[in-house]
Amino acid sequence: MTHPFLDLAPLGADRFAAIEDRVARLLGTEQDVVIMQGEALLPLEGAIRAAAGPGTTALNVITGPYGQTFGDWLRDCGATVVDLAVPFHTAVTAEQVRQAFAEHPEIDFVSLVHAEAATGNTNPVAEIGEVVRAHGALFYLDAVASIGAEPVLPDAWGVDLCVIGAQKAMGGPAGVSAVSVSERAWARMAANPRAPRRSYLSLLDWKERWIDGGRKTLLHAPAQLEMLALEACVERIEAVGPDTVMARHASAATATRAGALALGGGLEPYVYEARDAAPVATTLRAPSGVVASELVARALGADPAVPLAAGGGALAKEMIRVNHYGADATPGAVRASLAALGAALSEAGLSVDVAGALRAAEEAWR
Ligand SMILES: *Cc1c(COP(=O)(O)O)cnc(C)c1O
Repeated sequence: MTHPFLDLAPLGADRFAAIEDRVARLLGTEQDVVIMQGEALLPLEGAIRAAAGPGTTALNVITGPYGQTFGDWLRDCGATVVDLAVPFHTAVTAEQVRQAFAEHPEIDFVSLVHAEAATGNTNPVAEIGEVVRAHGALFYLDAVASIGAEPVLPDAWGVDLCVIGAQKAMGGPAGVSAVSVSERAWARMAANPRAPRRSYLSLLDWKERWIDGGRKTLLHAPAQLEMLALEACVERIEAVGPDTVMARHASAATATRAGALALGGGLEPYVYEARDAAPVATTLRAPSGVVASELVARALGADPAVPLAAGGGALAKEMIRVNHYGADATPGAVRASLAALGAALSEAGLSVDVAGALRAAEEAWR
């Protein structure tokens, strides 16, 4: 019996290299692009462990939970870490990064999350990149939640290690990911005696055994199902046009924000300024006296298909996330989310204007 997921032909080196090239085109990069056979945490961790060591002074920008994780990895590598934490309701500024370099001129590595799906903010990477380059530090960027939702331009922004995953705005699989690596970053890794080698975490293995060999022999059997899904999702983005996909995400964010403000009931955008809000997902602050996770559970009970979630960890009390990405970057998903939130708020005894919210969302979508 044939099955769409089973009995697949092995994925060959040619096909693998072609998928890498396609991802490189999506990123508009001339750098090497390595596709890693795991969720984005694999290249995120692999790149830090390869590039950072006891001699490293890292500026770690924290605008959400991922920044916290990166700081832990950096410390574990023996790096001296300067944390720059900003409240989750805002974005970091290039000026804050400039200030950190002024206070710690020894900084030679900067880790930054572009957009945070978990907190709903997005950071001005182009401006920050200028500061980082001016100081010659290596620039590491988590673009998992921005790729597909807003421009990600590693070459133009001077990003040395740019990690992406397909599972958010690209509408693709979660089990493979990619990282673009600059020549400077390869040199930093090669000079690091502690960089993982002969390890699943190793980027240098892919450099030495795959890229330097002309991409003829794969290191191990690739996850063919995920690779085919990655290829298909990049193909779909190319067919529609990346600008169209990004515009859908931007509109979903604008419409959700406008709709939430019009809904009332004490619901507020979690990220104060619209310019700091990520196109990938909109976070909202639950009205006082309402527990966000309970509100979301009530909304999902009525309509399990809406892309709503409560914030993670301590944020579960106060944060509601509207994950309008991928297949949910549509007017329909935004409408359904606002309607479900409105019904749940109303059930909680709050006064809301669902019709007004839907109207505001539609007008804001353009
Ligand atoms: C979603 C996301 C990842 C990947 O993590 P998952 O928990 O597997 O979704 C990494 N970084 C950022 C900034 C993300 O938003």
